[in-house]
Amino acid sequence: MRFRTRAIHVGQKRDPATGAVVPPIHVATTYVLPAPGQAARFDYARSGTPNRTALEETLCSLEGGCGALAYSTGMAAIHGVTMLLSSGDHILAGCDIYGGTYRLFHKVLPASGIRVSLAPSTDIDRFAEALRPETRLVWLESPGNPLLSITDIKACAELAHRHGAWVVVDNTFATPVLTRPLELGADIVVHSATKYLGGHSDALGGVVVVSDRQLWERLYFLQNATGAVMGTLETFLISRGLKTLDLRVREQCRSAHRIAQFLANHPSVERVYYPGLDSHPGHELASRQMSGLFGAMLSFEVTGGSAEAQRVATRTRLFQLAVSLGAVESLIEHPATMSHASYDAQDRQAHGISDNLLRLSVGLEDPDDLIEDLEQALAEGGPV
Ligand SMILES: *Cc1c(COP(=O)(O)O)cnc(C)c1O
Repeated sequence: MRFRTRAIHVGQKRDPATGAVVPPIHVATTYVLPAPGQAARFDYARSGTPNRTALEETLCSLEGGCGALAYSTGMAAIHGVTMLLSSGDHILAGCDIYGGTYRLFHKVLPASGIRVSLAPSTDIDRFAEALRPETRLVWLESPGNPLLSITDIKACAELAHRHGAWVVVDNTFATPVLTRPLELGADIVVHSATKYLGGHSDALGGVVVVSDRQLWERLYFLQNATGAVMGTLETFLISRGLKTLDLRVREQCRSAHRIAQFLANHPSVERVYYPGLDSHPGHELASRQMSGLFGAMLSFEVTGGSAEAQRVATRTRLFQLAVSLGAVESLIEHPATMSHASYDAQDRQAHGISDNLLRLSVGLEDPDDLIEDLEQALAEGGPV
């Protein structure tokens, strides 16, 4: 079966008791056992539920893995993966990563003796130089956040494996519609399911998909032992979201490409970061690694500095000023004060996250309306 068919049918079995085509939502927290000490398919809801198992089956199929786990949030999934490490281990991460991941890596993990450094994963030689003997985990995002940098996942996976490190790809921006990191050699894929997988700004969740059954067993043990599982209602909403993932992402990518072209030709825009534009340094790699589409996230720098960027962000009407991304509603945000405020200012500067940068998450509205909205927001002296 192909991707779209699997998104609708794998794991999502009709209810045998009633014939309902949508699996029922099981709210029970505990399950009857055949006898004391005898295992059953389900026993206690932290350890597993029919709805969570169904979602995990769908996700596993879409990412091409051999096991998946659904967490309460994307950060819980990311934290769950870092629990594989112990004191003295090192994480090497790319430079433009999610602000919350940066915060976990720099402000939480060091207390457990885990060290983290950032290096440009887009430059394989410089990235290789940043590996240390104790590097156990290589952390990648492609496209990166918020600069949409493109990393060669296959090359980084080969590098990391020669070094004996696991490769984790946060695939939230690309989604398995555009990139399937496990097929490119990654060991673990993580997602904030809150974003494209759910797709409607109404459910928090996180996902891990792995390429190896033993790794799944270890992560399952850690998740069950620490408890950050996805809630039942969220599980239902994310499963529903997945059924339209392919259609949503493809259409949102088409709109984003048009918007990127519009912005690239706008006199008040200094620079556009979108891997679909020929001018993007990762364009050629993205053409190979992203199924011919380039994602629905893009960033741009406006003339007039931080004040003008903040003015534009408050003048759009359809693009709502909010963090998060990947839903049917278009959003605009100012990374320096919002999604990437948890970066140290000098790291923001060193990695090119400038104060006049704005980031867009392109939704499913009519792209002509979205372009008109940006046009009026960028116009000089227009209504506030
Ligand atoms: C939002 C996000 C996360 C964190 O997910 P939550 O569900 O908010 O905890 C991680 N990575 C990326 C790329 C994200 O956009």
